[in-house]
Amino acid sequence: MKILDGKLAAQAVKEKLKIAVEKLKAEGKKVPHLAAILIGDNGASATYVAAKVKACEETGFISTLLRYDSSITATQLLEKITELNKNSAIDGILVQLPLPAHIAEEEVIKAIDPAKDVDGFHPVNLGKMVQGQSGFIPATPYGIMLLLEHYQIETTGKNAVVIGRSNIVGRPMSILLSGNTPQGNCTVTLCHSRTKELETHCKQADIIVAALGKPEFLQANMIKKGAVVIDVGITRVNDNTKKSGFRLLGDVHFESVAPLCSWITPVPGGVGPMTIAALLKNTFQACQQRH
Ligand code: NAD
Repeated sequence: MKILDGKLAAQAVKEKLKIAVEKLKAEGKKVPHLAAILIGDNGASATYVAAKVKACEETGFISTLLRYDSSITATQLLEKITELNKNSAIDGILVQLPLPAHIAEEEVIKAIDPAKDVDGFHPVNLGKMVQGQSGFIPATPYGIMLLLEHYQIETTGKNAVVIGRSNIVGRPMSILLSGNTPQGNCTVTLCHSRTKELETHCKQADIIVAALGKPEFLQANMIKKGAVVIDVGITRVNDNTKKSGFRLLGDVHFESVAPLCSWITPVPGGVGPMTIAALLKNTFQACQQRH
Protein backbone atom coordinates (compact mmCIF):
# COMPACT_ATOMS: atom_id res chain seq x y z
CA MET A 1 0.00 0.00 0.00
CA LYS A 2 1.22 3.47 -0.90
CA ILE A 3 0.02 6.84 0.35
CA LEU A 4 -1.41 9.45 -2.02
CA ASP A 5 0.17 12.32 -0.13
CA GLY A 6 -1.97 15.40 -0.72
CA LYS A 7 0.41 17.67 1.17
CA LEU A 8 3.29 16.74 -1.09
CA ALA A 9 1.29 16.94 -4.32
CA ALA A 10 -0.26 20.27 -3.27
CA GLN A 11 3.21 21.62 -2.50
CA ALA A 12 4.29 20.75 -6.04
CA VAL A 13 1.31 22.64 -7.49
CA LYS A 14 1.99 25.64 -5.22
CA GLU A 15 5.70 25.73 -6.13
CA LYS A 16 4.82 25.97 -9.84
CA LEU A 17 2.26 28.71 -9.16
CA LYS A 18 4.75 30.62 -7.01
CA ILE A 19 7.25 30.67 -9.87
CA ALA A 20 4.53 31.80 -12.30
CA VAL A 21 3.47 34.61 -9.92
CA GLU A 22 7.08 35.76 -9.51
CA LYS A 23 7.30 35.94 -13.29
CA LEU A 24 4.11 38.04 -13.44
CA LYS A 25 5.55 40.39 -10.81
CA ALA A 26 8.84 40.71 -12.66
CA GLU A 27 6.95 41.62 -15.84
CA GLY A 28 4.90 44.22 -13.94
CA LYS A 29 1.70 42.26 -14.54
CA LYS A 30 -1.23 41.74 -12.21
CA VAL A 31 -0.90 39.16 -9.44
CA PRO A 32 -3.94 36.91 -8.71
CA HIS A 33 -6.24 38.30 -6.02
CA LEU A 34 -8.72 36.05 -4.17
CA ALA A 35 -11.60 37.41 -2.11
CA ALA A 36 -12.97 34.99 0.49
CA ILE A 37 -16.26 35.55 2.29
CA LEU A 38 -16.74 33.88 5.67
CA ILE A 39 -20.05 34.15 7.47
CA GLY A 40 -20.74 33.29 11.10
CA ASP A 41 -18.54 31.47 13.60
CA ASN A 42 -18.43 27.89 12.32
CA GLY A 43 -15.04 26.63 13.54
CA ALA A 44 -14.44 24.25 10.64
CA SER A 45 -15.30 26.92 8.04
CA ALA A 46 -12.97 29.41 9.74
CA THR A 47 -10.16 26.82 9.65
CA TYR A 48 -10.70 26.11 5.95
CA VAL A 49 -10.74 29.79 5.02
CA ALA A 50 -7.63 30.47 7.11
CA ALA A 51 -5.84 27.66 5.26
CA LYS A 52 -6.88 29.15 1.90
CA VAL A 53 -5.66 32.63 2.88
CA LYS A 54 -2.35 31.14 4.12
CA ALA A 55 -1.91 29.25 0.84
CA CYS A 56 -2.42 32.52 -1.06
CA GLU A 57 0.34 34.15 1.01
CA GLU A 58 2.71 31.22 0.43
CA THR A 59 2.15 31.40 -3.32
CA GLY A 60 2.42 35.17 -3.68
CA PHE A 61 -1.29 35.73 -4.38
CA ILE A 62 -3.13 38.65 -2.80
CA SER A 63 -6.10 37.67 -0.62
CA THR A 64 -8.87 39.63 1.02
CA LEU A 65 -10.90 38.01 3.79
CA LEU A 66 -14.36 39.47 4.34
CA ARG A 67 -16.02 38.29 7.56
CA TYR A 68 -19.66 38.86 8.35
CA ASP A 69 -21.86 38.04 11.29
CA SER A 70 -24.39 35.24 10.73
CA SER A 71 -27.14 37.87 11.02
CA ILE A 72 -26.19 39.27 7.57
CA THR A 73 -29.23 39.22 5.29
CA ALA A 74 -29.30 37.53 1.89
CA THR A 75 -29.74 40.97 0.26
CA GLN A 76 -26.69 42.37 2.05
CA LEU A 77 -24.60 39.38 1.04
CA LEU A 78 -25.72 39.60 -2.59
CA GLU A 79 -24.78 43.31 -2.57
CA LYS A 80 -21.27 42.44 -1.33
CA ILE A 81 -20.92 39.87 -4.10
CA THR A 82 -22.06 42.40 -6.71
CA GLU A 83 -19.38 44.82 -5.42
CA LEU A 84 -16.72 42.10 -5.73
CA ASN A 85 -17.96 41.19 -9.22
CA LYS A 86 -17.49 44.82 -10.28
CA ASN A 87 -14.14 45.30 -8.53
CA SER A 88 -11.55 44.79 -11.28
CA ALA A 89 -8.78 44.17 -8.71
CA ILE A 90 -10.48 40.93 -7.62
CA ASP A 91 -9.91 37.85 -9.79
CA GLY A 92 -11.60 35.13 -7.75
CA ILE A 93 -14.48 35.06 -5.28
CA LEU A 94 -15.23 32.26 -2.88
CA VAL A 95 -18.08 32.10 -0.40
CA GLN A 96 -17.31 29.50 2.25
CA LEU A 97 -20.18 27.03 2.63
CA PRO A 98 -22.33 26.16 4.51
CA LEU A 99 -24.25 29.42 4.84
CA PRO A 100 -26.66 30.27 7.67
CA ALA A 101 -30.06 28.61 7.13
CA HIS A 102 -31.82 31.86 6.18
CA ILE A 103 -29.57 32.36 3.09
CA ALA A 104 -30.22 30.21 0.00
CA GLU A 105 -26.86 28.84 -1.20
CA GLU A 106 -28.11 28.50 -4.76
CA GLU A 107 -28.90 32.20 -5.00
CA VAL A 108 -25.50 33.15 -3.65
CA ILE A 109 -23.65 30.81 -6.00
CA LYS A 110 -25.61 32.16 -8.97
CA ALA A 111 -24.76 35.76 -7.98
CA ILE A 112 -21.01 35.22 -8.43
CA ASP A 113 -19.66 36.29 -11.83
CA PRO A 114 -18.84 32.95 -13.57
CA ALA A 115 -15.51 34.51 -14.65
CA LYS A 116 -14.59 34.88 -10.94
CA ASP A 117 -16.25 31.67 -9.69
CA VAL A 118 -13.02 29.94 -8.64
CA ASP A 119 -14.90 27.35 -6.56
CA GLY A 120 -16.52 26.23 -9.82
CA PHE A 121 -20.02 25.97 -8.32
CA HIS A 122 -21.83 28.34 -10.72
CA PRO A 123 -24.22 26.55 -13.13
CA VAL A 124 -22.30 28.05 -16.08
CA ASN A 125 -19.05 26.46 -14.92
CA LEU A 126 -20.73 23.17 -14.02
CA GLY A 127 -22.31 23.15 -17.50
CA LYS A 128 -18.93 23.79 -19.13
CA MET A 129 -17.39 20.97 -17.12
CA VAL A 130 -20.13 18.55 -18.22
CA GLN A 131 -19.47 19.48 -21.86
CA GLY A 132 -15.69 19.24 -21.42
CA GLN A 133 -15.24 22.98 -22.12
CA SER A 134 -12.67 25.10 -20.34
CA GLY A 135 -14.08 26.74 -17.21
CA PHE A 136 -13.62 26.43 -13.46
CA ILE A 137 -13.86 22.89 -12.11
CA PRO A 138 -15.13 22.50 -8.52
CA ALA A 139 -12.04 22.64 -6.34
CA THR A 140 -12.34 19.29 -4.52
CA PRO A 141 -12.91 17.04 -7.57
CA TYR A 142 -10.33 19.08 -9.49
CA GLY A 143 -7.86 18.57 -6.64
CA ILE A 144 -8.49 14.82 -6.76
CA MET A 145 -7.79 14.79 -10.52
CA LEU A 146 -4.54 16.66 -9.86
CA LEU A 147 -3.63 14.12 -7.19
CA LEU A 148 -4.25 11.22 -9.61
CA GLU A 149 -2.12 13.05 -12.18
CA HIS A 150 0.70 13.74 -9.70
CA TYR A 151 0.98 10.05 -8.80
CA GLN A 152 0.33 8.91 -12.39
CA ILE A 153 -2.51 6.63 -11.33
CA GLU A 154 -3.80 4.65 -14.30
CA THR A 155 -7.53 5.30 -14.67
CA THR A 156 -8.35 4.35 -18.27
CA GLY A 157 -10.82 1.47 -18.47
CA LYS A 158 -11.03 1.14 -14.68
CA ASN A 159 -14.24 0.70 -12.74
CA ALA A 160 -14.71 3.70 -10.45
CA VAL A 161 -17.31 4.05 -7.70
CA VAL A 162 -18.09 7.49 -6.34
CA ILE A 163 -20.09 7.50 -3.11
CA GLY A 164 -22.07 10.75 -2.70
CA ARG A 165 -23.91 12.86 -5.28
CA SER A 166 -23.50 16.42 -3.99
CA ASN A 167 -23.11 19.19 -6.57
CA ILE A 168 -19.75 20.18 -5.11
CA VAL A 169 -18.04 16.79 -4.76
CA GLY A 170 -19.68 13.51 -5.80
CA ARG A 171 -21.54 14.46 -8.97
CA PRO A 172 -18.73 16.51 -10.59
CA MET A 173 -16.26 13.79 -9.54
CA SER A 174 -18.27 11.16 -11.40
CA ILE A 175 -18.31 13.36 -14.52
CA LEU A 176 -14.57 14.05 -14.42
CA LEU A 177 -13.67 10.39 -13.95
CA SER A 178 -15.84 9.40 -16.90
CA GLY A 179 -14.43 12.14 -19.18
CA ASN A 180 -12.22 11.49 -22.17
CA THR A 181 -9.09 12.82 -20.44
CA PRO A 182 -5.81 11.31 -19.19
CA GLN A 183 -7.12 11.01 -15.59
CA GLY A 184 -10.61 9.99 -16.77
CA ASN A 185 -11.85 7.24 -19.07
CA CYS A 186 -13.27 5.28 -16.14
CA THR A 187 -16.54 3.40 -16.14
CA VAL A 188 -18.23 5.20 -13.28
CA THR A 189 -20.94 4.12 -10.87
CA LEU A 190 -22.36 6.96 -8.77
CA CYS A 191 -23.71 5.67 -5.46
CA HIS A 192 -25.84 7.61 -2.98
CA SER A 193 -28.06 7.25 0.05
CA ARG A 194 -30.69 5.27 -1.92
CA THR A 195 -28.21 2.89 -3.58
CA LYS A 196 -28.96 -0.77 -2.95
CA GLU A 197 -26.14 -3.21 -2.30
CA LEU A 198 -23.48 -0.54 -2.04
CA GLU A 199 -21.03 -3.17 -0.82
CA THR A 200 -21.38 -5.14 -4.10
CA HIS A 201 -20.66 -2.01 -6.17
CA CYS A 202 -17.64 -1.10 -4.04
CA LYS A 203 -16.25 -4.65 -4.18
CA GLN A 204 -16.05 -4.35 -8.00
CA ALA A 205 -14.32 -0.98 -7.97
CA ASP A 206 -10.72 -0.39 -8.99
CA ILE A 207 -11.08 3.19 -7.75
CA ILE A 208 -13.36 4.38 -4.93
CA VAL A 209 -14.00 8.01 -4.07
CA ALA A 210 -15.81 8.21 -0.73
CA ALA A 211 -17.61 11.54 -0.29
CA LEU A 212 -20.59 10.91 1.93
CA GLY A 213 -19.62 12.54 5.21
CA LYS A 214 -20.07 9.44 7.38
CA PRO A 215 -16.97 8.76 9.48
CA GLU A 216 -15.23 5.44 8.80
CA PHE A 217 -18.15 4.23 6.67
CA LEU A 218 -16.04 2.35 4.13
CA GLN A 219 -14.82 -0.87 5.72
CA ALA A 220 -12.46 -3.64 4.61
CA ASN A 221 -15.30 -5.95 3.50
CA MET A 222 -16.23 -3.39 0.79
CA ILE A 223 -12.80 -3.24 -0.87
CA LYS A 224 -11.36 -5.19 -3.79
CA LYS A 225 -7.70 -6.04 -3.27
CA GLY A 226 -5.47 -3.50 -4.98
CA ALA A 227 -8.10 -0.75 -5.16
CA VAL A 228 -7.22 2.95 -5.16
CA VAL A 229 -9.18 4.66 -2.36
CA ILE A 230 -9.73 8.42 -2.18
CA ASP A 231 -11.22 9.62 1.09
CA VAL A 232 -12.94 13.00 0.77
CA GLY A 233 -14.78 12.94 4.09
CA ILE A 234 -13.81 15.24 6.91
CA THR A 235 -15.84 14.99 10.11
CA ARG A 236 -14.90 16.50 13.44
CA VAL A 237 -15.51 14.04 16.28
CA ASN A 238 -15.12 14.89 19.96
CA ASP A 239 -11.80 13.80 21.43
CA ASN A 240 -10.87 14.98 24.88
CA THR A 241 -7.30 13.72 24.50
CA LYS A 242 -6.71 16.45 21.88
CA LYS A 243 -5.97 20.06 22.76
CA SER A 244 -8.56 21.18 20.21
CA GLY A 245 -11.17 18.84 21.75
CA PHE A 246 -11.76 17.05 18.46
CA ARG A 247 -10.09 14.90 15.81
CA LEU A 248 -10.76 14.58 12.11
CA LEU A 249 -12.15 11.38 10.66
CA GLY A 250 -12.52 10.48 7.00
CA ASP A 251 -15.23 8.35 5.40
CA VAL A 252 -12.81 5.40 5.22
CA HIS A 253 -11.82 3.11 8.10
CA PHE A 254 -8.15 3.62 7.31
CA GLU A 255 -6.62 0.91 9.53
CA SER A 256 -8.61 -1.96 8.01
CA VAL A 257 -8.91 -0.64 4.44
CA ALA A 258 -5.33 0.56 3.84
CA PRO A 259 -3.66 -2.88 3.84
CA LEU A 260 -5.94 -3.97 0.96
CA CYS A 261 -5.29 -0.91 -1.23
CA SER A 262 -2.67 -0.17 -3.85
CA TRP A 263 -3.02 3.56 -3.04
CA ILE A 264 -4.97 5.44 -0.39
CA THR A 265 -5.32 9.05 0.79
CA PRO A 266 -4.91 9.84 4.48
CA VAL A 267 -7.21 12.16 6.46
CA PRO A 268 -5.97 14.75 7.12
CA GLY A 269 -3.28 15.34 4.49
CA GLY A 270 -5.02 13.85 1.46
CA VAL A 271 -7.84 15.57 -0.41
CA GLY A 272 -7.95 18.67 1.83
CA PRO A 273 -4.62 20.21 0.69
CA MET A 274 -5.44 19.30 -2.93
CA THR A 275 -8.73 21.23 -2.71
CA ILE A 276 -6.74 24.32 -1.77
CA ALA A 277 -4.17 23.73 -4.51
CA ALA A 278 -7.00 23.45 -7.06
CA LEU A 279 -8.57 26.65 -5.78
CA LEU A 280 -5.26 28.44 -6.31
CA LYS A 281 -4.97 27.03 -9.82
CA ASN A 282 -8.48 28.25 -10.62
CA THR A 283 -7.66 31.71 -9.21
CA PHE A 284 -4.48 31.89 -11.28
CA GLN A 285 -6.47 30.90 -14.38
CA ALA A 286 -9.14 33.54 -13.58
CA CYS A 287 -6.43 36.21 -13.35
CA GLN A 288 -4.84 35.12 -16.63
CA GLN A 289 -8.17 35.10 -18.45
CA ARG A 290 -9.24 38.50 -17.13
CA HIS A 291 -5.98 40.34 -17.90
P1 NAD B 1 -23.32 16.18 1.25
O1 NAD B 1 -23.91 15.93 2.60
O2 NAD B 1 -23.78 17.32 0.45
O3 NAD B 1 -23.53 14.87 0.38
C1 NAD B 1 -23.37 13.60 0.90
C2 NAD B 1 -23.79 12.57 -0.14
O4 NAD B 1 -23.57 11.30 0.40
C3 NAD B 1 -25.26 12.65 -0.54
O5 NAD B 1 -25.33 12.77 -1.93
C4 NAD B 1 -25.88 11.34 -0.09
O6 NAD B 1 -26.76 10.79 -1.04
C5 NAD B 1 -24.67 10.45 0.10
N1 NAD B 1 -24.85 9.53 1.21
C6 NAD B 1 -25.19 9.81 2.49
N2 NAD B 1 -25.28 8.69 3.22
C7 NAD B 1 -25.00 7.67 2.40
C8 NAD B 1 -24.94 6.27 2.56
N3 NAD B 1 -25.18 5.70 3.73
N4 NAD B 1 -24.61 5.51 1.49
C9 NAD B 1 -24.34 6.09 0.30
N5 NAD B 1 -24.39 7.42 0.09
C10 NAD B 1 -24.72 8.20 1.12
O7 NAD B 1 -21.75 16.20 1.48
P2 NAD B 1 -20.55 16.84 0.60
O8 NAD B 1 -20.60 18.30 0.68
O9 NAD B 1 -20.50 16.18 -0.72
O10 NAD B 1 -19.31 16.35 1.47
C11 NAD B 1 -19.05 14.99 1.73
C12 NAD B 1 -17.92 14.86 2.73
O11 NAD B 1 -16.76 15.44 2.14
C13 NAD B 1 -18.12 15.63 4.04
O12 NAD B 1 -17.48 14.91 5.08
C14 NAD B 1 -17.39 16.93 3.82
O13 NAD B 1 -16.93 17.52 5.01
C15 NAD B 1 -16.23 16.45 2.98
N6 NAD B 1 -15.62 17.47 2.13
C16 NAD B 1 -14.27 17.53 2.13
C17 NAD B 1 -13.61 18.42 1.31
C18 NAD B 1 -12.13 18.45 1.31
O14 NAD B 1 -11.54 19.40 0.84
N7 NAD B 1 -11.46 17.40 1.79
C19 NAD B 1 -14.33 19.29 0.50
C20 NAD B 1 -15.73 19.19 0.49
C21 NAD B 1 -16.36 18.26 1.31
